[in-house]
Amino acid sequence: MTATLMNERDLEFMLYELFDSEALIKRNRYQDHDRQTFNEVINTAKAIAEKYFLPIRQKLDTHQPTFDGKKVTLIPELKPAIEAIIDSGISSATADYELNGMQLPPIVASVASTYLTAAGGVGLGYNMLTNANANLLEAHGSEALIEKWVKPMRSGRFMGTMAMTEPGSGSGLGDLITKAVKSDDGTYRISGNKIYISGGDHNLSENIVHLVLARIQGAPKGVKGISLFVVPKFLVNDDGTLGADNEVALAGLFHKMGGRAQTSTALSFGEKKGSIGYLVGEENQGLKYMFHMMNEARIMVGTSGATLAVAGYQYSVDYAKNRPQGRLPSCKDPLSPMVNIIEHADVRRMLLAQKAYAEGALSLVLYGSQLSDDEKTATTEEARAHAHVLLNFLTPIIKTWPSEYGTKANDLAIQVLGGHGYINEHPVELFYRDNRLNPIHEGTTGIQSLDLLTRKVPMNKMAGYSATLSEIYKTIEQAKQYSNLTAFSAQLSDALETLKQTTDVVLTAMQATNIDLALANSVKYLELFGHVIIAWLWLKQGVVASEALRKQPHQADEDFYNGKLQALQYFYRFELPEIALWSNILRTSDSTTYDMKVAWF
Ligand SMILES: Cc1cc2nc3c(=O)[nH]c(=O)nc-3n(C[C@H](O)[C@H](O)[C@H](O)COP(=O)(O)OP(=O)(O)OC[C@H]3O[C@@H](n4cnc5c(N)ncnc54)[C@H](O)[C@@H]3O)c2cc1C
Repeated sequence: MTATLMNERDLEFMLYELFDSEALIKRNRYQDHDRQTFNEVINTAKAIAEKYFLPIRQKLDTHQPTFDGKKVTLIPELKPAIEAIIDSGISSATADYELNGMQLPPIVASVASTYLTAAGGVGLGYNMLTNANANLLEAHGSEALIEKWVKPMRSGRFMGTMAMTEPGSGSGLGDLITKAVKSDDGTYRISGNKIYISGGDHNLSENIVHLVLARIQGAPKGVKGISLFVVPKFLVNDDGTLGADNEVALAGLFHKMGGRAQTSTALSFGEKKGSIGYLVGEENQGLKYMFHMMNEARIMVGTSGATLAVAGYQYSVDYAKNRPQGRLPSCKDPLSPMVNIIEHADVRRMLLAQKAYAEGALSLVLYGSQLSDDEKTATTEEARAHAHVLLNFLTPIIKTWPSEYGTKANDLAIQVLGGHGYINEHPVELFYRDNRLNPIHEGTTGIQSLDLLTRKVPMNKMAGYSATLSEIYKTIEQAKQYSNLTAFSAQLSDALETLKQTTDVVLTAMQATNIDLALANSVKYLELFGHVIIAWLWLKQGVVASEALRKQPHQADEDFYNGKLQALQYFYRFELPEIALWSNILRTSDSTTYDMKVAWF
């Protein structure tokens, strides 16, 4: 069975109705574009997804990359698929024209990427990491670094990685021990071991540009002593040709439950003389620069979580419309025809939950993409600063909510298919396995929740927190103009009160009493805030849908908008009320988990 990869109508809704992306063409940077060029890029991504990735999606999963001690082998069909992305320009779509880019708005590039993610799992990850690596160097690297490393990455000759994690340093990067020693010529000798490095070795490009976090000899302990280096697999001569091997050895590949198209590598740097590394920016500022890439990667992770949720939802809807099984409780006649399972209310419950999670999450990540654009290209200084504050604040939620609830959506997609969902003839189990990584990498859910409470909420006198709440209040006011939305806007107002009271109590507890206890339930705070944000974005979608329905659209659109309103109702009736329980746990500083002694497990 083949199903539509993404819901084209919904992508159009998100892009042009919810976020009014067409208005972006008024900005100087996008003056060469219009709705037609946006759609052409999206359609190109869809065509590449269908032609190159969809036919090999299962093979990429069942034929994991192998390493014979000398070289990595990937299935041969992957290279032309990746090249098709590079040749189309989509891999550098948002970059400047001078750097081989198309100067496309990030929100349009994100929509285009959904087709590729849905069709090929993480095959696209090679390009995305390369792009994020190049973006970091453009922002923080010298002209020389940009010339030598960014240009070949933008043209597709080289690919890039992000090399942070070590065997003894995962969530806690402050403990990393990879060493950097300065040479007389101003370069550094890097030595140490990194693990889980995505795209750390492969045969898809001429060279691999690793961005490596390391500690310069004598640097302070902890995060203040971390520097960032470009460490290529092969050195590059002044004329751009490849030079000597740079002692970046592949120690082995990891075999994973999902995301198998992308190599996960253990890398050993500089076992003999040390790999040559080029410092990015200033010494000991490495983590700050790396956050440029991490923040971008966090939005990519959220986008992957949301996209896989949509893909599973789409697939299970199509399946449920075509799978005859059983009869309704009201039908007692065994000779009557079976109904398609979508006729069973419980199956519609599972589909509606997926729709609420998936399209809620998608609206959040696209909002994040738009903010990442606004902070650079909005027309006033004030608007740019406002977008920056919002994005900085919301990043842990943009990363986490779609990852957690996207995976839950995929779990439900499996359930809709029953036994057929558990076998690999249908892709929903693959979506689940691929998505399961998203709550783990780029900072686990637990780490994101600590970041939200200890840094993002209190930051700059709670500027991000207050800016977010103001945006929500604006939508509540708008929604009051629609009689079908008044109950929801009142419920969201109440939810904001719950959020504010909870925040006050937790922040006070963090200062006044035992901070370990005050933060023990931080994940519940992130979940609570995430639910409020998703409820807000559903209300925003409800406003657009209600307005469109007033204009009496044709039948297909009427069905589409009514579907939006029903998913909104589902989220407000079945999901949002959960925050009362989480708030209670937080406001009472519930110590159940904190008090559990190691010996009692
Ligand atoms: C497939 C895959 C791809 C990856 N790609 C990359 C990559 O390209 N580059 C790269 O550098 N890394 C990469 N990673 C590494 C990834 O970012 C780490 O796995 C992740 O940050 C968690 O680190 P860890 O695995 O060491 O787990 P740990 O840090 O050991 O965490 C284990 C558990 O303990 C919890 N925990 C840890 N510390 C705390 C704390 N202070 N408070 C509360 N809870 C805590 C965590 O939330 C988690 O639940 C990848 C990992 C995987 C699996």
